[in-house]
Amino acid sequence: MKLSLHNTLGRKLQEFVPLKPGVVGMYCCGPTVYHYAHIGNLRTYVNEDFLRRILEYAGYEVNHVVNITDVGHLTSDSDDGDDKMEKGAAREGRTVWEIADHYTQAFFKDWERLNLKQPTHWPKATDFIPQQIALVQELDKRGYVYRTEDGLYFDTEKFSRYGHFAGLRMDKLMAGVRVDLGDKKNPTDFALWKFSPKDKKRAMEWDSPWGTGFPGWHAECSAMSTALIGRTLDIHCGGTDHIRVHHTNEIAQSECAHDGEPFARYWVHNEFLKTEDSGKMSKSSGEFLTLQVLIDKGYEALDYRYFCATAHYRKFLTFSWENIASARDAHRAFRRRVKALLDAWNAVRQGETDAASDLTDAQKNWQGQFEDALGQDVNIPKALGVAQSLCRDGNLTEAERGRLLADWDRVLGLELALELPDPPSAEVDADEAARIDALVAARTVARESKNWPEADRIRKELADLKVVVTDTPTGPVWKKG
Ligand code: AMP
Ligand code: ZN
Repeated sequence: MKLSLHNTLGRKLQEFVPLKPGVVGMYCCGPTVYHYAHIGNLRTYVNEDFLRRILEYAGYEVNHVVNITDVGHLTSDSDDGDDKMEKGAAREGRTVWEIADHYTQAFFKDWERLNLKQPTHWPKATDFIPQQIALVQELDKRGYVYRTEDGLYFDTEKFSRYGHFAGLRMDKLMAGVRVDLGDKKNPTDFALWKFSPKDKKRAMEWDSPWGTGFPGWHAECSAMSTALIGRTLDIHCGGTDHIRVHHTNEIAQSECAHDGEPFARYWVHNEFLKTEDSGKMSKSSGEFLTLQVLIDKGYEALDYRYFCATAHYRKFLTFSWENIASARDAHRAFRRRVKALLDAWNAVRQGETDAASDLTDAQKNWQGQFEDALGQDVNIPKALGVAQSLCRDGNLTEAERGRLLADWDRVLGLELALELPDPPSAEVDADEAARIDALVAARTVARESKNWPEADRIRKELADLKVVVTDTPTGPVWKKG
């Protein structure tokens, strides 16, 4: 199976060839555990899970690392602001260690509920302090480090390729600077080690050759990926927000400490989940949706996984209650169709003998379409479309279709053999039903008269009422989710 990936390095589609045949070292930037992961963060992990599963489906052994950031991440991605962990501790009246433990456990729970495969390693930044110090020492030895009042900084001017990855123009950046640089030489320079304040003991601090303090946020990913995968990673993943600062700085640190050896060969960046109104979902604003909120509203975690599967990882996905409700309906309908086919396959299969027997030509054709979709830059929505079409292909027996779907679920990860509880049907009293009927009728009128602002207003009002309208040949049908 051929696999091509869109590589942020060079911004083009490339055939994937690992450094060592048969094995893939894959590093994914993980959560900062000062709060719950929001469903935007989780979209990124779901997409990374699809990639991991495709690699395994294609026969690779994957050394998958997801880090847990439990120190060093300040409220701005550069080096200012409060420490996110300390902020979490102050918010909840707990210690930073309790905060880290609580939100790491909550994150693991979400991970499991979404049926994400366990990484090979879950390193915590606080468990890799000596490796981060060693990295800074290597950089210091090579002359990339300077010292200020509050810490050690990487001198980005010394790395001639700095910013190439993100397409940053250094001259423009310099010209645009209005902020006070403090003791920093260049606006892009970043902290490798921050000193603890002289008059205060920090909850998280360590000794170092330069004084007591804590590592800069970017150092952990460079240090832990080298320790657990090697100097050159096959694939490095994260959200698109990381391209400009975090990943640019990881490249600078790793390549300068390793005498120019490339840090990662393929960079895979996931586009954001956004909302209809503010467009942003951010942990720092405190306004975000968690998986638990969806579950409390009667969704299954796998409904959310399916929702993620409906959009390509490099495209924005818009969350609204209307969109998630439609995804749930489509997901449940798909499961019902697949269940009958899986049952037919299970009824005829004779253990492993059948499972290993040759595919028919028609099956091979479908298999080819499915693999092509996976191979084209992880096109999961297309692969899901192939699975949907296969369900309807009456030229294959139910068992023949079921066999393929059972196998494809290794990539989709929807646990298609599981029976999910029915979604709760919302109670609607007669008054509310009449109001919704009137809105749906007004929606039809607005659409027929091409009054789009009005149609849009009504759509929003219906969405607020958690009503989903489906247009059928006999007219619109509504359901309250
Ligand atoms: P954080 O816990 O904030 O460090 O982020 C964890 C992961 O989620 C990173 O890979 C981010 O790039 C990614 N991320 C953050 N916000 C979103 C969003 N709204 N949609 C998708 N991914 C996101
Ligand atoms: Zn990282």
